[in-house]
Amino acid sequence: MLTINSIKEGLVIDHIKAGKGIKIFNYLGLDKAEYRVALIMNADSKKLGKKDIIKIENVIELDYTVLGLIDRDITIDIIKEEKISEKIDLQLPEKVENVIKCKNPRCITSVEKDLKHVHYLVDEKTEEYRCKYCDEIVEVKDITSL
Ligand SMILES: [Zn+2]
Repeated sequence: MLTINSIKEGLVIDHIKAGKGIKIFNYLGLDKAEYRVALIMNADSKKLGKKDIIKIENVIELDYTVLGLIDRDITIDIIKEEKISEKIDLQLPEKVENVIKCKNPRCITSVEKDLKHVHYLVDEKTEEYRCKYCDEIVEVKDITSL
């Protein structure tokens, strides 16, 4: 069993629902990483039964805001000198790019394929996002790409 101590400096993304680890791995572009990265699947978890964990041995600026969209129960620990130096609470990001696809067939993004899909958070309680271009509303639970 790998432990947190196996990382000197870096990030531990923990409490990922089993099976979602690989998605997050890809979202963060870790498949192209040139530093040590570990994806641990189906680790035992008291809370979740099974969980996935990602360990990144590098102090990097990751855009992990998108993780808040995927699952706010995910925890992120920043490791410095083999100790947890900071814990990051995930929230719904204010702005997301190219994660949510606008479903409105008349939206300019359905015509202009190179255009970035941009959505802004409308309401944290209802978990709604609004398309930057056409104002189409989408709820987080309906985002199929996550
Ligand atoms: Zn749109």
